[in-house]
Amino acid sequence: MSTSHQELVGPRGTTSLRSRAVPLAEPRRQIALLQAVDLEGSPHGGNFDEALAHAGHPRLGPAKLEIFQINVGKLCNMTCKHCHVGAGPDRIEEQMDRDTAEACMRALDKTEAHTVDITGGAPELNANFSYLVEESVGRGKHVIDRCNLTVLLLPRFRELPDWLAERDVEIVASLPHWRRRNTDSQRGEGTFDASIQAIRRLNAAGYGRGDSRKRLTLMVNPVGAFLAGSQSSLEREWKEGLEREHRVRFDRLIALNNMPISRFLEWLDATGNLRPYLQLLVRKFNSATVSGLMCRNTLSVSWDGRLFDCDFNQMLELPIVGSDGRVLNVRDLDRGTIASRRIVTGRHCYGCTAGAGSSCGGSLSGGAAS
Ligand code: SF4
Ligand code: SF4
Repeated sequence: MSTSHQELVGPRGTTSLRSRAVPLAEPRRQIALLQAVDLEGSPHGGNFDEALAHAGHPRLGPAKLEIFQINVGKLCNMTCKHCHVGAGPDRIEEQMDRDTAEACMRALDKTEAHTVDITGGAPELNANFSYLVEESVGRGKHVIDRCNLTVLLLPRFRELPDWLAERDVEIVASLPHWRRRNTDSQRGEGTFDASIQAIRRLNAAGYGRGDSRKRLTLMVNPVGAFLAGSQSSLEREWKEGLEREHRVRFDRLIALNNMPISRFLEWLDATGNLRPYLQLLVRKFNSATVSGLMCRNTLSVSWDGRLFDCDFNQMLELPIVGSDGRVLNVRDLDRGTIASRRIVTGRHCYGCTAGAGSSCGGSLSGGAAS
């Protein structure tokens, strides 16, 4: 099923870097901008590898592979300001095709991963989304759909909540805040109301009601240049707020820091927040987060089949490279090579280790977040 630009009518927080043809659309420019920030006086001068070594991790390597993450592409019905993917309705070309989707399943069979995490963009817009879900569920994997909620309101997805519920797919849905103003300021006017409507549909399909097979997880991120708050207190506040004001429910909340890449990087730079935010991330480096970093238990596949340590490295075009210098591809996944690789790091990694830490699964330690 192909998707036309006009069909994607979601709210707009901004427009994609690519559509504006700005230099920062190039990942190498993003890395250069991060590197150019003067962090003299910050711990280890803002050198992430030195911070790791000082914390007792001279070499960041993988642990047991648990999560096979598939990023099907950058197509999305929204253009949120904080998006680390740079996704939007104009990113039609970068979409995983069937051949690559099938290669993902063959590769999955070679791993011991128990979870398949399907992301994008809005992954549901990919023509192979249902194939990936069906095949993964058929292999006994726990499947996660990283859903932006508003996509569920597209007419063709009316039945999708029930379809996902029948397959026990976990929905991890992004919603920056339980108050309308905060969510709309980041994701675009109308996002909040559309999201509440989508949560109602998910609740009607059995999600958010305490059934562990139909788990609805809300994923929140700060609306500004500060770190995610305490996950447990946010969860309490959000559950009460959403139930009281809108009569909708969810099962758990995960809190993520905003990564200083892509559109959030652009926003930081444009508002004079880049240096203070990086200083904050570096100052709040928390060594207790290192063992749980998602690059250690996750393998991330891009829409064209290349392999990465994580979704953030994917967006910065920092792929896993074999000993022969070739970029590794899902078509020739080799367990030994994957297990012995050195994880590619950079200044952006401070986003994962600051405060309570941050990963696709939420915070990484019970440490103070602010
Ligand atoms: S943050 Fe998510 S919903 Fe928003 S533009 Fe990016 S991929 Fe789409
Ligand atoms: S961005 Fe985070 S998850 Fe990715 S390599 Fe760096 S520390 Fe690991």
